[in-house]
Amino acid sequence: MNFCSHCGARVGRRIPPGDNLPRHVCDACGAIHYQNPKIVAGCIVECDAKILLCRRAIEPRRGLWTIPAGFMENGETAAEAAVRETLEEARAEVEEVSLYALYNIPHISQVYLMFRARLAQRVFAPGPESLDVALFGEEEIPWDEVAFRVVTATLRRYCEDRRGGDFPTHVADILRR
Ligand code: ZN
Repeated sequence: MNFCSHCGARVGRRIPPGDNLPRHVCDACGAIHYQNPKIVAGCIVECDAKILLCRRAIEPRRGLWTIPAGFMENGETAAEAAVRETLEEARAEVEEVSLYALYNIPHISQVYLMFRARLAQRVFAPGPESLDVALFGEEEIPWDEVAFRVVTATLRRYCEDRRGGDFPTHVADILRR
């Protein structure tokens, strides 16, 4: 950040009084511009023991597969965000949405909330951010072409849980390699 979003003056970076981390501070109007982690919400969409995956049409990782997921918008719940992203990226309506896993990714300041959900009808299609959308059984998942480590971790855990028939909620961290 170079300029203040309140008044347009140049901002500096320093530790404000009473704080312990450097922040973007505006000397003109006094505004302190905090930067905090972003929340990404996504859905593991189940249908007939298969999982819905989207092939990304956008960078990063264009051409690779992911579950529908994206940044939460202001004013929505995490589950609403996951459902909305599924509708946008996979043109799929889901039901029975429940929290499945929370992944912290501290080195990129993101938190992922992954929900399980069931395809409401067997209807899906690529949205503008997807090249393709398809259902995959565990043996069919293109593991070498999954877009993000957090998605690989989610899918691996999910497949393992499904073999045991139990889906407890997981909390895990994805750390810098
Ligand atoms: Zn300012």
